[in-house]
Amino acid sequence: MTLALDFISDQQTPTADRVTLFVDVILPLPLPRLYTYRVPFELNDRVVIGGRVIVQFGAKKTLSCIVAAVHEQAPKEYQAKYILEFIDDAPVVTQPQLKLFRWMAEYYLCTLGEVINAALPSALKLSSESRIQLHPAFERDTNEYPMTSQEDKILDALGALEDAKSLTFTEVGDLLGVASFHKVIKSLMHKEAIFLFEHTADKYSPKVLKKVRLHGRHLTESNLERLFEDLTSKPKQLDVLMKYLQRVPVYQDEHANHRGLEKAYLTSSPHLSPSAVNTLIKNGILEQFDQIVSRFPMDENPIAHIQFELSESQTAARDEIMTYFGEKDIVLLHGVTGSGKTEIYIDLIRQALDGGGQVLYLLPEIALTTQIVTRLLRVFGSRLGIYHSKFSDNERVEVWNGVLSGRFQVVIGVRSAVFLPFDNLGLLIVDEEHESSYKQYEPAPRYNAREVALMMGNFQGAKVLLGSATPAVETYYQAKQGRYGLVTLSKRFGEAGMPDIELIDTRKQREQKTMHNHFSADLLGEIERKLGAKEQVILFQNRRGYAPVVACQDCGWIPKCNNCAVSLSYHKHSHELRCHYCGYHESMVTKCPACGSRAVKTVGFGTEKIEDDLKIMLPQASVQRMDLDTTRAKNAYQQIISDFEKQVTNVLVGTQMVTKGLDFANVSLVGIINADSIIHYPDFRAHERAYQMFVQVSGRAGRKGKKGKVLIQTSDPTQVIFDKVIRNDYLEFYNYEIMQRQEHGYPPFMRIIKMTVKHMEQGLCEQAAIALTGELVDRLGRAAVLGPEAPYIFRIRNFYIQEITIKLDRAHTVLKHAKLMITEAMDAVKDQKEFRQARLVPDVDPM
Ligand code: ADP
Ligand code: ZN
Ligand code: ZN
Repeated sequence: MTLALDFISDQQTPTADRVTLFVDVILPLPLPRLYTYRVPFELNDRVVIGGRVIVQFGAKKTLSCIVAAVHEQAPKEYQAKYILEFIDDAPVVTQPQLKLFRWMAEYYLCTLGEVINAALPSALKLSSESRIQLHPAFERDTNEYPMTSQEDKILDALGALEDAKSLTFTEVGDLLGVASFHKVIKSLMHKEAIFLFEHTADKYSPKVLKKVRLHGRHLTESNLERLFEDLTSKPKQLDVLMKYLQRVPVYQDEHANHRGLEKAYLTSSPHLSPSAVNTLIKNGILEQFDQIVSRFPMDENPIAHIQFELSESQTAARDEIMTYFGEKDIVLLHGVTGSGKTEIYIDLIRQALDGGGQVLYLLPEIALTTQIVTRLLRVFGSRLGIYHSKFSDNERVEVWNGVLSGRFQVVIGVRSAVFLPFDNLGLLIVDEEHESSYKQYEPAPRYNAREVALMMGNFQGAKVLLGSATPAVETYYQAKQGRYGLVTLSKRFGEAGMPDIELIDTRKQREQKTMHNHFSADLLGEIERKLGAKEQVILFQNRRGYAPVVACQDCGWIPKCNNCAVSLSYHKHSHELRCHYCGYHESMVTKCPACGSRAVKTVGFGTEKIEDDLKIMLPQASVQRMDLDTTRAKNAYQQIISDFEKQVTNVLVGTQMVTKGLDFANVSLVGIINADSIIHYPDFRAHERAYQMFVQVSGRAGRKGKKGKVLIQTSDPTQVIFDKVIRNDYLEFYNYEIMQRQEHGYPPFMRIIKMTVKHMEQGLCEQAAIALTGELVDRLGRAAVLGPEAPYIFRIRNFYIQEITIKLDRAHTVLKHAKLMITEAMDAVKDQKEFRQARLVPDVDPM
């Protein structure tokens, strides 16, 4: 314990009473319980619940953890070690958060450590392996904060580094010759002098924007006049200067010049000479500088009051929501696509902020685009925090701290934003509440952000608004039961009507030989007509790649993944066979390895083939594809959307990505290439999902004035679901679906917990699954336990898979007891030696 003693000697805050305090801490690890550490009594005053402390864990490792409780009970089973260092004087995790995290661990059958690990951005999780680097924007001579000698020492060391431009915490400790250095690091982070990261891959590489501004010495009126005189003989440079002053009102706003202008704006301007720009920089008239920009660019000159008047029906809906909030905590806003739900949200957010509460606005990942962020920034400006999973860790820490400090009163974010340290929420909005991307599959906690948001609202006394054009059956049921308020908007905003939806019988067209590849003559003709009228088209195909299967025509051989029980998909662009489950890929085969035949053909089709065929059939059209393969690069997604928005492209072909929340004014046709593959899915939610997908993708058509058209290709137009989609009658769909759910005992009538057993060896996987089933049946009864069963894809990434489905009554008490039993059953299996290597994964409310 030399480390701790060291530390105590340089801190003097002795307190009068000499009680011995202990803290229970949450380590950010999947440990089943909390650990107790002892507080050096000189530091009794410093203990804060929700603050971080550094402790030793294991032989060598030190790491930060969160204080969950303070008490005077020494642990019985082990000798408590001392806390090594206190990092925070104020909580980084709030009390309401701790309560929520406990609930999540219990509800989703995981450990508190797993929740904390998922919740905290890694820069808040310190360990002896953490590393620091200089903040790229930090300039030592111009920075405004005074540095302590310890801080200077660290900056010196970082500045002197050549290649490996980072220091580990261990090196920092050695450098300063003390064991307590976390406060120094925290302070340097606070002063934006350094960045912190855990894995080399997380090292921060900022996006830098090249900007220019007028050099300070020209800023007085007389100097500027002289400058104009000097430049009269150099008209090209004068043009650049004029353009700059046009865009940057240096006299009206003293900060405007400091912020400057993007250099590219001047160099790429068609009427200006790029070399003149560079000459001005070379002669010190313009000054070039770098600005680190975030992924969502802030509007530099926010137009203060771009605000829409709510329409009559929007106002009525808003008022209805407010009235409901008087008596209920949760309201469902069921508004058709394009009904203008966003404007209603904005209005409600404003009211909640006026009332002094915080607001969390959740969106599915893919819907959090610059489109929506820009709208909100215009209204809420710097009070708005943005939380996106593509953000770097440091950007996330910034939002985290911004929420803690009160800088961000409203946050728009993806599912993981539910982890942010709110403590005074007034309103939560869950847009597109039916979206399955609110569910986290891997790793634990396997939570659904919608359900977590409901619980946050409950804990913090906040109101929750769920919004969707196609509400989840479970949600609508709660509304029908009167547990949630229900507000309906059945008309689109403005002139736009709902699109006409037509079915195309591909079997018939195939018989009549009017199919061209996968396009019916009707669809192809309609696409041509729309393009002729300079309108845009979206085509939806549920599969990416060129073809999902490749097969030998002579012997039937099919290439399969080595690690998973799936056939490999053909990707033409890269000329590869790829596994969509593990990423395995190899070159496309031209000769069958089984029989030597060259008749290896593709079967079925994906987005890539649709794109290809279309380019051949309509060479004049500009086609762009949006799927996982084309959006891997950082800004690719935004680029595709922006090209389509600007009508650089006429046709957008894509997977589910094109169905989500996009708002394009000029799209008048949506085509669903193959509806059958969406409907026939072995899951009780298949119909619901298909319905949502059809309605959402249809919702992209005809949003501004023009009447939209949707063409759905199917080999069987008589299927029930089409009827509901065509008539745009959610209620009819719901009534049909809820009956099915009741009849077969599915949610919302029953609760489902899915147990997955994974093992590298098939036999042991099956045996473990059988053993677990036995333990579960013993505790929950035969009727509640279905399986075990191998899923359709029974092997992924070399792990064999078995599934057990547990169906439970909805009652809270039943559920609580059942979860205890499930935990017991899992322990009973894990205690058996032969199943050591088995992974048992519970998933509560699977989707
Ligand atoms: P939803 O989210 O319900 O599908 P949106 O919020 O995207 O619908 O609104 C559809 C379109 O109507 C958007 O282009 C939006 O800008 C426009 N809009 C909605 N409400 C108003 C309003 N009150 N004034 C002007 N335009 C509006
Ligand atoms: Zn063959
Ligand atoms: Zn695979």
